[in-house]
Amino acid sequence: MMTPALAAVEALDREDTLAAKREQFALPKGLLYLNGNSLGVLPHGAAARATKVVEQEWGVDLVRGWNTRDWINLPTRVGEQIARLIGAAPGQTLCCDSTSINLYKLLAAALAMQPERRIVLTERDNFPADLYIAQGLVQGRTDSGIELKTVPATDIEAQLDESVAVLMLTHVNYKTAAMHNMEHLTRLAHDHGILVLWDLAHSAGAVPLALDSWEVDFAVGCGYKYLNGGPGAPGFLYAATRHHEALRSPLTGWMGHASPFEFAAAYEPASGIQQFACGTPPVVSMSVLSAALEVFAGIDMQDVRRKSVALSELCLQCVETCPELQTLRLESPAGSAERGSHLAFSHPHAYAICQALAARNVICDFRAPATLRLGFAPLYLQYRDVWDSVDVLGDILRAQRYLAPEYAVRKRVT
Ligand SMILES: *Cc1c(COP(=O)(O)O)cnc(C)c1O
Repeated sequence: MMTPALAAVEALDREDTLAAKREQFALPKGLLYLNGNSLGVLPHGAAARATKVVEQEWGVDLVRGWNTRDWINLPTRVGEQIARLIGAAPGQTLCCDSTSINLYKLLAAALAMQPERRIVLTERDNFPADLYIAQGLVQGRTDSGIELKTVPATDIEAQLDESVAVLMLTHVNYKTAAMHNMEHLTRLAHDHGILVLWDLAHSAGAVPLALDSWEVDFAVGCGYKYLNGGPGAPGFLYAATRHHEALRSPLTGWMGHASPFEFAAAYEPASGIQQFACGTPPVVSMSVLSAALEVFAGIDMQDVRRKSVALSELCLQCVETCPELQTLRLESPAGSAERGSHLAFSHPHAYAICQALAARNVICDFRAPATLRLGFAPLYLQYRDVWDSVDVLGDILRAQRYLAPEYAVRKRVT
């Protein structure tokens, strides 16, 4: 038998101060969704906004919508909605492009601010897509001696010295959920004159952040994970005001021009964060993200964090007390203070287990080569959902259902 008992778990749901938020989401009936860290659930308000922006704004206002609906300012308006969740005062956060492109823009801009230095330092286990962006950027500059240095997480502090231009890290690891101490590492890096660029893809909307008070230089993040903006929602970027004078975006698009509608032949950057806009904003998806962010209105991120920790701890306790699940090995840090909002377990059959769970309406995900990832999005997940999911997981391992041949077939997206 796994503990705690179901009755105790149901009591947690009754006492949950965030419980009412769940009603703002269009959760498919009967689905246990432990994957909000990969793609957040559709908020009802986002669905309504999607219809409105397509039928009434685009459909009726057409090109007039840039002014009548203020589409042109969506990147700054949505940026400010996100700013509240990441501890950023106004004027520093812009919603635009994808996380990858924003990372490219800020990494290039930060490097240009450090002409005497050659090293971009990052973590070996950083999200590979972030490493790819840095590799591509560095490849184009080999003649200037710019170099990407990737080290194990445990070596980062020892590698901080005057040769490093930029420290580029992801706050919460995509696979293990290991969470860096952002304030501490930023301060250590600053002691050596290093600029720090954080990827908040697995933190924004799940973990309280205080970018301004931690004196973070730059950050990027994702709109479709805990911010629930929908598949491929635009990302965001943050640049501290103190750097705005010195910063230059490498993608000098017209939306980052000081006066795009003058149609001057020469590029002249807009002041402030606006210069990091590049092309025309995706009005439909940015409007949907904006509506999704309204779910966070009135929410204290400390409450979100408390529930996230409680959900993860409940999951761990259920796994640890379920006899069938002793073959799962925890890959995440054991201490909740060192983790983000998901848990990773390794198992040689992780992929097939994930498929077998999906066949039973439990959605989590697999990360190569052998990790099962369970995410806990506190705005819509119930304690009961966690208990039920682990119960199904136990059943699948007990009966070895994952050995069924149909679960071995790898899909294109895993
Ligand atoms: C999800 C994620 C991204 C996403 O980047 P896209 O440009 O939206 O594909 C980037 N970095 C990290 C760490 C992520 O987890």
